[in-house]
Parts: sequence; structure tokens; C-alpha cells
Amino acid sequence: MDKGIILLLAVDIVKAYVKHNRIDHIEVPDFIRTTFSALDESHDPVPNDAPTLINCLECGRAYKILKKHLFAAHGLSPSDYRAKHTLPDHEPLVAPESSLRRRQVQVAIAERRRAGRLTEEG
Ligand SMILES: [Zn+2]
Repeated sequence: MDKGIILLLAVDIVKAYVKHNRIDHIEVPDFIRTTFSALDESHDPVPNDAPTLINCLECGRAYKILKKHLFAAHGLSPSDYRAKHTLPDHEPLVAPESSLRRRQVQVAIAERRRAGRLTEEG
């Protein structure tokens, strides 16, 4: 992904966070940096072999996130789909690459929250 687009994404995430949480303006650039590196693919802890798509067992097509497709194309809820194909309850319906990246952003935000709380208490 283009670095400029990643930066815009990072800024959007930080903006959304700042709207709902108190954060010292001095910390904003650092928070943007952390979020940027969580999104950046070039120095990326997401393994390169992590599949970027997941196949629908109904029609065989590949998607990043199956949930919407399952409902729109096959009228199945995630639990219906899992039951129909005897998949375990925790079987992800999101491509591993997408869920790892989303997880990294969540971690960056959680770290930010923790840092904010420590500052407020201390
Ligand atoms: Zn399908």
C-alpha cells in the first residue's frame, strides 16, 4: 500500500480516537507514528505467507471478510455457515492477513489507552 494512503488511514484512526478520548496534543505525533507502523506493510510483523483471502465454502469465491458475503449471497449467518460446514465455533470468517492487521491496530490503540491512563493516574 502507498505510504501516503497508510498515513491518511493512520491519521483517520487517530482522529477518531482523539474525538472520543482525552489525549495530550504533544502525544499525537507519536500515536500517529505507532498507528502508521501498525498499518505499514513494508516493515511488517504480519508474515508474508499469511493468506490475504479466505474461500467461501458455498461458492468457492475468495474474500477478505466472509460475513457480509455469506449473508448477501447465501442468506447464511456466521453460525449457520459454521454449522452447515461443520466448522468449529471459533473458525475465523476473516482472512488471516486482515485479522492480523486489524489486531495490530487494536494493540496500538490499547497501548495508547494504557499510556493515557497511566499519565492521568500518575
Ligand atoms: Zn459464497
